[in-house]
Amino acid sequence: MDAAEFRKRGKEMVDYIADYLEKIDKRQVFPDVEPGYLRPLIPDCAPQDPESFEDVFKDIEKIIMPGVTHWHSPYFFAYFPAASSFPALLADMLCGGIGCVGFSWAASPACTELETVMLDWLGKMIHLPEDFLAGKDGQGGGVIQGSASEATLISLLAARTKSIRRVQSEKPELTEADIMGRLVAYASDQAHSSVERAALIGGVTIKSVPSDDTFSVCGSALKKVLDEDKASGLIPFFFCATLGTTPCCSFDKLLELGPICNKENIWMHIDAAYAGSAFICPEFRHLLNGVEFADSFNFNPHKWLLVNFDCSAMWVKKRSDLTGAFKLEPLYLQHHYQESGDANREQCNKQENAVTLELRFTLQRLDLLRKKIYCSFAFLKEKYKHWQIPLGRRFRSLKLWFVLRMYGVTGLQEHIRKHVTLSHQFEHLVLQDERFEICAEVVLGLVCFRLKGSNELNKALLKSINEAKKIHLVPCHLREKFVLRFAICARTVESTHIRFAWQHISQLATELLKTWQQNYHQQ
Ligand code: PLP
Repeated sequence: MDAAEFRKRGKEMVDYIADYLEKIDKRQVFPDVEPGYLRPLIPDCAPQDPESFEDVFKDIEKIIMPGVTHWHSPYFFAYFPAASSFPALLADMLCGGIGCVGFSWAASPACTELETVMLDWLGKMIHLPEDFLAGKDGQGGGVIQGSASEATLISLLAARTKSIRRVQSEKPELTEADIMGRLVAYASDQAHSSVERAALIGGVTIKSVPSDDTFSVCGSALKKVLDEDKASGLIPFFFCATLGTTPCCSFDKLLELGPICNKENIWMHIDAAYAGSAFICPEFRHLLNGVEFADSFNFNPHKWLLVNFDCSAMWVKKRSDLTGAFKLEPLYLQHHYQESGDANREQCNKQENAVTLELRFTLQRLDLLRKKIYCSFAFLKEKYKHWQIPLGRRFRSLKLWFVLRMYGVTGLQEHIRKHVTLSHQFEHLVLQDERFEICAEVVLGLVCFRLKGSNELNKALLKSINEAKKIHLVPCHLREKFVLRFAICARTVESTHIRFAWQHISQLATELLKTWQQNYHQQ
């Protein structure tokens, strides 16, 4: 494919995607295929000779689409949202076009610098304390990870290194292996499974902290497990607080937990994968109070802020905690700008002189140049490869930049508020039907509900909903109860879709209860 054909096919593909998204409500939200459906539809191995674009293109509808779960359908209410918007799609296209691998400033300066500035923008939008921002002289800063799971793992590994160093400085007789064997991480019994996985990968013990009646962890619950563990010679080192838990969107009590973590030298990481986007609205920002006690914080714009997957925003108070833990510098990845502090200064001085000359020109030009120089100063030394597990990284900040500019803060706030309003609409419909109960407080865009009755009854209801394939939901367990989760997901979902979904659920419940009662009487 040459550039001329790319122009033509690119336009066709944009049309195809626009049609797909515009008419997605006409497609069945959940596919009919069975596991293994795809292999028989395509050859056993790659073609020896090139195929035409037409041949590939026609297989999209024939082979791929029949096996797609349509996450952007307004009838998709499962998991949490996967963000999508046209500006983000366009930026991703540009990202692919530039195709740089931005592991260091020199590897593609715009890639590092835009990411730093975007994470500061985003941090300011949710009123993160200054400590987390790269700012002028800040020790903190933000980075885009691929997922919340990676952010948790990175923070746990950094915390592990920090704790080992601290304990070794206090008790030099202890080996690293001795300390590792005693380190304990903690998270709520409602935390996402990725936290337990991070501990497994990090080779440390993890313990659940019991949540209270509102599915939140409070200070006294954490303190109790810490006291017990310290008394038996263990070393608590990491606590992952969750804001917006996966089962029911509950919130751990940061204002109680944070001071305990700080006092006990425990790294507090906050996982706000879904809920974090809501903190751009002043009326939800209070849910983040206590973030000032945290060492690291993460949320996924790729869930709820209209930035397509993958874009998981993570901030740390001290970026040296990450770079100190993961820094390795083979010769082939070194660059003369970064080789020593002197080299940095020399380079910066050269740029400073250039600016001095430019100062004679207009004020506007001066301002632009000052900004440019400032970024160079701070990030000549910065290499995002030290903040993450892989070396390579895409230019993901482009899609954040496009979305933040083309929606503006108000546009994004509108999106969040619309979803929250719709979840309350659904909650209201559930509450009007005496057969059902709401199982957790509805704070953002998730409603947990069930039929009053046994878990078996609710499993049967979910089965009939998902087998009908008009809408799609997933369940959760809240304590011993089997619960249905109704998450407001699609960008285009409207009140009519919520009403349709409720009528459908209600009708299936009526049919189910009828057969359930008949079976009961027959027994
Ligand atoms: N943390 C929470 C609270 C979540 O709800 C989820 C996913 O829904 C995750 C972490 C995992 O997110 P990711 O897929 O970005 O790793």
